[in-house]
Amino acid sequence: MKVSSLFQVFLLTGLVACGSGSPAGGEIQSTAKPLPPAGEPVSNDARATRDPYSYANSEQMRVRHAELNLTVDFATQTLTGQVTLVVERLNDQAGELVLDTRGLDIRRVALNQGGAKLLDLPWRLGEADPVLGAPLLVDVSAAGRRGRFSITVDYTTRPGAEALQWLDKGMTSDGRSPFLYSVAASIHARSWIPLQDTAATRMTFGARLRVPPGLTALMSARTLSADIQTGEYTFSMSQEIPAYLIAIAVGELKYHAFDQRSGVWAEPSVIEAAAEEFEDTPAMIAGAEALYGPYRWEQYDLLVLPPAFSLGGMEHPRLSFITPTLIAGDKSLVGTVVHELAHSWSGNLVTNASWQHMWLNEGFTSYVEMRVVETLYGKAERKMEEVLGYQDLMFELAELAPENQSLVPAVLLKNPDDGFTAVPYQKGAQFLVYLEQAYGREAFDAFLKQYFDHFAFQSVTTEDFLDYLQQHLASVYPDRVSASQLERWIYAPGMPADFVPPVSPELEEIRVVILDWLDGEIELVDIPRSNWGSQQWRYLLGHLPVGTDPGQLAVLDDRFKLTDSGNAIVTSKWLELAVRMGYQPAYRRLEPFLIQVGRSSLINNVYRALAESSPQGLELARNIYRKAGPGYHPTARPSIQALLYPGDRAED
Ligand SMILES: [Zn+2]
Repeated sequence: MKVSSLFQVFLLTGLVACGSGSPAGGEIQSTAKPLPPAGEPVSNDARATRDPYSYANSEQMRVRHAELNLTVDFATQTLTGQVTLVVERLNDQAGELVLDTRGLDIRRVALNQGGAKLLDLPWRLGEADPVLGAPLLVDVSAAGRRGRFSITVDYTTRPGAEALQWLDKGMTSDGRSPFLYSVAASIHARSWIPLQDTAATRMTFGARLRVPPGLTALMSARTLSADIQTGEYTFSMSQEIPAYLIAIAVGELKYHAFDQRSGVWAEPSVIEAAAEEFEDTPAMIAGAEALYGPYRWEQYDLLVLPPAFSLGGMEHPRLSFITPTLIAGDKSLVGTVVHELAHSWSGNLVTNASWQHMWLNEGFTSYVEMRVVETLYGKAERKMEEVLGYQDLMFELAELAPENQSLVPAVLLKNPDDGFTAVPYQKGAQFLVYLEQAYGREAFDAFLKQYFDHFAFQSVTTEDFLDYLQQHLASVYPDRVSASQLERWIYAPGMPADFVPPVSPELEEIRVVILDWLDGEIELVDIPRSNWGSQQWRYLLGHLPVGTDPGQLAVLDDRFKLTDSGNAIVTSKWLELAVRMGYQPAYRRLEPFLIQVGRSSLINNVYRALAESSPQGLELARNIYRKAGPGYHPTARPSIQALLYPGDRAED
């Protein structure tokens, strides 16, 4: 996943507790694991063995396959149907299956007894927690004590399901058809499918979908059959994945193939620009394969979502979801595509077993991203991305409590979504850069390739990684990195004392140029910007000193047309700067931009600048949010509400 989330403040409110009776009657004793209280220090044992964000008793019974049969209804904003779960019994004493749910209307749970024969099972929903949802407790003693069995759960999602965003046609690029997409990371799969929503459990899945005729349905799976006339689709994912990688998208879409195994989906008006912008995708796959071994997911497609998409990208296997804000016209933002592709090794193939170990997904991916960018676009480009990532990290470390600054958080977060800070991404990546330098690129590359192969299709913890590192690198080169250095990187706050920050000569040059201009030593016409891409602008706009005169911003705007920039990254940084420096002419772009774009990392900074600027700025931000908010993904709204309505005074 690609986010930049300084403000992932937990503010989920109003989730419905879903107590429900058991149609088959009978009291059930819960075997759901007790959850450690949030804010408590986490022991190493707990780090290694438990997923505190799931009720599932997956150590006793494990879901191995989920077969969905759902109707997509845009009018009611619901999915209705069944999921059939194939469950493997690991403990023959266990008589109860515990699944994760949040806000689902469950109608029936039944044991499949062959053919169409179903036996109703006793079930109930436990007490609901606003973050974790409610456990679905099913008495499966009728399934016998050995081997596998399968149950079918009839259910309907609710319009507010956190994983799903239902877009009116007016919120799409083409404005012709409604659009549905899901993002289930970190623990939102349970809001659209009752299952074991822990990254420690991997399963295959299949699906039969009915969508409005004329619309295309896609999933993070192979499409087995597609009938756009009737709206009937079937899918199969035969490789085991965790629940958070099950994804759905429905809308008016066109496909452009890059080659035999990769291509891009997008709305008709976007497909041509997308095909051009992302044409390097096959080269990216080849570059990653050369470093880390074969791409294992057969097909790699991109899906360009409507602008309301809340993330930079989301790495669903076979089908990365990406934001159209990456289409800059000059390929300067394709690093995010490299990032999502890199997850095909780090995250999707080798998965963090729970979100406390998120750096295993995101730190590794940010590192692999840098390496592939270096292979494809050169060292200068890689260094620019590295420096910008490092700056995000410094910015966030200045604001984060020490217990949230370690790669494995020292304190359990109440909501794992709050863990998506620059720490797992950029500190994680810098840790791997450190290891690469300590062991040498050749040895470290070989190690990493072997690591991805050894743990392929498994979910792992930090301890698994450290054991493997010890066995295959540390013991071979015992004098390079000490145990206490490893410990320091993973479990201590901040950056280690011997850490050397990355440097980019290209960005350093810009900093000097702009300071010279602000000091009056050079004229604006001397600023050499002809070859500047998004990275340079991002750096420049982030380095104008506080107190820069609005008149100077006017000169900059006049020359470079920043208020009307077509590059969303530039627009986001420019609007933030304009608000902070009181440059009024840029304000006309605020509302259109915040209504059009839903990507959290590009809008939260603008809302924050407005909220902090003045009471009038806060009022303006609230007015814009009233119009724009309904167009944001459910998981993107809480952080903005926390900025605009501190003290939980959200209006909607
Ligand atoms: Zn990611």
